[in-house]
Amino acid sequence: MNSDTINHMAAAIRAAILAHEADIESLDREIGDGDHYINMKRGCEAISNIAAELTPLPAADALNKIGMKLLSTIGGASGPLFASFFISMGKTLQTVATPASNDIALAFAAGVEAIMQRGKAQAGEKTMLDVLIPVAHTFKQLAEQGQTAAQIATALKPVASDGLESTRNLLATKGRAAGLGERAIGHLDAGAKSCQVMIHAVCDQVLA
Ligand code: ADP
Ligand code: MG
Ligand code: MG
Repeated sequence: MNSDTINHMAAAIRAAILAHEADIESLDREIGDGDHYINMKRGCEAISNIAAELTPLPAADALNKIGMKLLSTIGGASGPLFASFFISMGKTLQTVATPASNDIALAFAAGVEAIMQRGKAQAGEKTMLDVLIPVAHTFKQLAEQGQTAAQIATALKPVASDGLESTRNLLATKGRAAGLGERAIGHLDAGAKSCQVMIHAVCDQVLA
């Protein structure tokens, strides 16, 4: 993984988020405040705007820069959470010259851990973590087993979709939906949806 790969992934993520505007927007409208799509779009545009600045950087520095950019551009709860993810991923890869699957899996897991710490949240609270935690776990497991990038990408897509679906019948205990009690049941979490969309976009890019 180098900065060119990161820019390609970012472009694929942006296209996928824009293509899912309706779902993402309506989920946050149902059990949030309706701005999650706008927040995601703003973040994607900001990263697209710095693509040329990322190109000459080592992967770790590019990821750190992405995190810092997201911190200053996306508002809401999700901005600082996604920012922590990328900053922590960058920090983990700082000493790795050419990150391979195993390194990326460890960095991804560290990023998810950073979201958990920043948001003081765990699995089962009806957030983006219900997608990210199982994906991080499977990613690490398969990379340790020496599976190829294509095998890992193929396996992670259904894990992300199952994680998203798992949010439907959960009570929310973090974020804006936490005040809704039983009313949130039956609805998917918007942040979990964007994470599922982003993970599918990256996996599809690996498989292309
Ligand atoms: P806001 O809720 O401030 O309007 P967004 O709409 O951009 O921010 O993001 C909402 C998403 O952020 C939720 O759907 C949920 O997935 C995620 N989220 C909110 N609080 C937390 C938390 N403490 N830990 C993890 N994820 C969270
Ligand atoms: Mg919102
Ligand atoms: Mg908001």
